[in-house]
Amino acid sequence: MEKYQQKTIKHEISCVGIGLHTGNKISMTLKPAEPNTGIVFHRTDIAGQNAYIPAHHDYVVDTRMCTCIGNKNGVKIATIEHLMAAIHAMGINNLLIDINGPETPVMDGSSAPFVFLLECAGIKIQNAPLKAIRILKPVTVKDGDKEVSLRPARKGLKMNFSIDFPTPVIGHQEAKLDLTSANFKNMFSRARTFGFLQDIEMLRSIGLARGGSLDNAILVNDNVIMNKDGLRYSNEFVRHKMLDAVGDLFMSGYPLIAEFTGKRSGHTDTNALLTALFSDQSNYEIVDQATYYASLDEEEAMQEDEDLKQLVCA
Ligand SMILES: [Zn+2]
Repeated sequence: MEKYQQKTIKHEISCVGIGLHTGNKISMTLKPAEPNTGIVFHRTDIAGQNAYIPAHHDYVVDTRMCTCIGNKNGVKIATIEHLMAAIHAMGINNLLIDINGPETPVMDGSSAPFVFLLECAGIKIQNAPLKAIRILKPVTVKDGDKEVSLRPARKGLKMNFSIDFPTPVIGHQEAKLDLTSANFKNMFSRARTFGFLQDIEMLRSIGLARGGSLDNAILVNDNVIMNKDGLRYSNEFVRHKMLDAVGDLFMSGYPLIAEFTGKRSGHTDTNALLTALFSDQSNYEIVDQATYYASLDEEEAMQEDEDLKQLVCA
């Protein structure tokens, strides 16, 4: 079944934008890749094999303001999470991403432009079975009041997120997502990254957020949202945090069969959760999706028979 086969894109596709943190203009091209390649970034401004970095949690080198990957040669690409979220949600497993600088273009600060790019490129079904990481035991990572966890689930990836900010324009927000392309695209993909005016000067002084503007982020000043068109969703903040988690969880290398919960968490916590998950092999198994879901259907059919028998006997 197509649903349980690996996917790439039909045609290569490009875009140009600026880097959120560097402020530089960046060109990016998404290219089809062979089965079992995974998602691989390639710095086209750097020569040779040194320029390739797999989008995998083993290669994460910085999670302070964004998810940044790097290889042993010190070649890095920052702010990959919004693109990774779109790739994850659209069900793409194999992709080569050419970028001519140290950062993914931020576009409008959400995943929507990347979803649009992938849809324009078209999805190609590949003749290779699709695997998944199935969580077998709960794994939780806590850091102060932040908490992230992965728990076993029967099907797909169910996600919960909650945030608490002292400013009343954000406050407490919660969201749930049953990860499918349609749910992500319709309810989460347009949620933008956000920042606080008082942090901007500090970030700029350490060389970050140079490309940040009201065109690619929600800017909060005390109790006021400074973007003149306001918010895209009433709880856009928690929806963006969910979007970040969709991107960061795909750094596991495979789709997940799990329930994820994030409370006040960020890139650092989600990455630490993957490290904790993979530190103990009894936490998970890698399954062939077609085989796994066929066994689940069989189990459900047997249960239905059992229920019917009981109904008839009663
Ligand atoms: Zn983000």
